[in-house]
Amino acid sequence: MDQEASFLLALNEEQLRAATHNPSSTLQILAGPGSGKTRVLTSRIAHLILNCHIPPSAICAVTFTNKAANEMRERLTKLLGKTRVSQLKMGTFHSLCARFLRKFAKLVDIPDNFTVCDAGESKKIITALLKTREKDLKARGLSLEPGQCASLISKAKSRCLSAQDYLEEAKAHMHSKTSSADIPSSLETVVGEVYVQYEATLRRNSALDFDDLLIYGVKLFSGHPLTVSWCQHILVDEFQDTNITQYELMRSIAESARCITIVGDPDQSIYGWRAAEVENLAKMRRDFPNTAQVFLEENYRSTASILDASLEIVSQDTKRINKSLYTAHPDGISPVLYQVQKEQEEAAFIAIEIKRLVAQMGGSFRWGDFAILLRYNALSRNLESALQREGIPHRILGGRRFFERLEVKDVLAYLQLVDNPAFSPAFLRVINVPGRGIGEKTLLEIQQRAEKAEKSPLQLLEGIFDMRLPDNKPSIRKKITTFVQVMRKLQKSAKEGMGPSDLISQLLDLVQYEDHLRKTQPDWETRWENVKELITFAKEVEEQNLRDAATREASADVSSLDVEMSPLRQFLQVSMLSSAGDNDTEESSQEKVTITTCHSAKGLEWPVVMIPSVDASTYPFIRSEDEDEERRLLYVACTRAKALLYLTRSTTRMVAGDQKARGLSKFIQAIMENCATQNKMPLFRQHVPHLELEDRAIICNVLQRPEPVESEVEGMVEGFRRLGREHPPQILWTPAGQPLNPVQATWPFAPSLA
Ligand code: ATP
Ligand code: MG
Repeated sequence: MDQEASFLLALNEEQLRAATHNPSSTLQILAGPGSGKTRVLTSRIAHLILNCHIPPSAICAVTFTNKAANEMRERLTKLLGKTRVSQLKMGTFHSLCARFLRKFAKLVDIPDNFTVCDAGESKKIITALLKTREKDLKARGLSLEPGQCASLISKAKSRCLSAQDYLEEAKAHMHSKTSSADIPSSLETVVGEVYVQYEATLRRNSALDFDDLLIYGVKLFSGHPLTVSWCQHILVDEFQDTNITQYELMRSIAESARCITIVGDPDQSIYGWRAAEVENLAKMRRDFPNTAQVFLEENYRSTASILDASLEIVSQDTKRINKSLYTAHPDGISPVLYQVQKEQEEAAFIAIEIKRLVAQMGGSFRWGDFAILLRYNALSRNLESALQREGIPHRILGGRRFFERLEVKDVLAYLQLVDNPAFSPAFLRVINVPGRGIGEKTLLEIQQRAEKAEKSPLQLLEGIFDMRLPDNKPSIRKKITTFVQVMRKLQKSAKEGMGPSDLISQLLDLVQYEDHLRKTQPDWETRWENVKELITFAKEVEEQNLRDAATREASADVSSLDVEMSPLRQFLQVSMLSSAGDNDTEESSQEKVTITTCHSAKGLEWPVVMIPSVDASTYPFIRSEDEDEERRLLYVACTRAKALLYLTRSTTRMVAGDQKARGLSKFIQAIMENCATQNKMPLFRQHVPHLELEDRAIICNVLQRPEPVESEVEGMVEGFRRLGREHPPQILWTPAGQPLNPVQATWPFAPSLA
């Protein structure tokens, strides 16, 4: 076989059948976690290009996160080389739409300098709109949280329900005294009205939110088929979590070619609140009647005991269609269920256990091999301090992400305003950064006058000296004038082609941003570091753009999506889309323990996974209404583990200052009880495992890593044995399984052999 086709050798028979299935048909690859779906998808792309001679620029590959797209890009680069990979149309539905919409903005009647408005900004706009209704809502005995309102609007948008239609539906519900499943009809009308105003605000600001990117994408592709006539095949990963709009996008891109490959797993559908529809699988078979299906049954990721326990969790869902999934891997260490009495102990356990494993595996585990998966972000506080106390390097993936940090948002907002002076969320963010003493009243007045005059607030301020404002002090006017001058200077530089990294430097200088941080933020030093990191990121984007342009020129790719965009706009687009669900700029994850949510762990894998807080209020999460989805979420989390899986929980937890008792998650409780009544071996062990040599050999085998050599730790273990002492790891734990004082438990420690 020639070298180019050798990637097919890395597939099993079923996977091979899927990867090489007739290139001009539609195909569904349905299989459980770790069965190689993503691997097959990547191989299929390579097969289409290398063996079926489809040009890379005619292939569209959609992943769920930017991170997944980057990983796929890296793997394909090895097989296909940089030039071909740069021509693929690859990314998330959002990033693909953003690129198309820039190029064809006119066709769908949107400004081509549109600003992408992230979830935080959308929520701010909605908060402001709700504020004007506060009194009215109170008088009617209603309450509506901005977050709830934002998510209802987003849900409506992802169902392609326009503001007008939503409002009309709500009014009809009012009349017929029925209500939607989500909220009472009186509130639904309020949401509808806010939705209408929200849309008008976006329009006025030349802004698109994340949902708009998809909605306008559908409009563009279905209304102007020529814009997708290049497409010969579209491939979608994690299809079980596509919502209605995303399905429509996929269908419209594939309209003329009618060649689609999707991979998915209904058992891993975890985005119900984002209106994800498992129903899309059936719909695809109706829309494309010749759709073939391939099922993969072998799991390559996890040890058998991890897979068994995980399957036991998901199979409690009686509505689920049973699928078979097996692994050829050995049993390995059964998953650990570790229970303590206080949440601080739980966090300390996790930190010390990670340390112990790194030490005990004699170099076969690195910090980067561990992930702690949380049901929601707020659970990370205790864990972070425990890891910090133990000196364990860690990173938070998807928490307060780089692009959401105050200082990064400040700088980006200035640049957004340079690029799109009509974007008032950016205006409102920076007008008092650094403090210019402009009060709320004045700001409101400025906005209202700007609206009346059909100008942007910035344009209006240019005539500041002729205006009467509530804050009429000359010092404030002077500050506003300085602000307007700063903006003018930046706009001029941008127009003259200054790159974003230099623009940022100029901005920092003009507004003395470092000084501002020093005066207002106690941790200004780390924040200033973040600002510098943003400059580095801007430089990287500039360089990447230059490289991409050169590759494209060399390959004369006429169907390229990249339009002539100013370097500034290009940078803003990359930044705004990076905040969509993952974070690409975080430094290398290799040497750090990852803390992330179960949701963002989708599609990823780690040698060791720890899931804290497996209690009755967290799994299922008390605020969630869909128990099956909660079960699937725990299933997704458990199936990320390759070699070791730990579930932990504390029997009490502080809730708003009170110590509350918490039972075990019923998903796990049921398994424990089942095993007991059926006299089966327990699927979870309730004490800390000693890793004997044999266990370590199995783990290394599953991870395909060299077995640990006799290390210093080994020597130490032997030393203990010879002295008739216990195995050192046991010294870390009292007989009741409680960790000792963390100070004593630092590992490896010098044992006192006296
Ligand atoms: P998920 O549902 O969690 O996204 P998946 O089905 O996409 O999982 P992959 O991530 O593609 O699974 O594969 C899981 C792991 O198994 C990866 O480490 C992959 O490299 C490995 N793998 C897949 N197929 C094979 C194979 N035929 N031989 C060896 N390893 C494989
Ligand atoms: Mg996958």
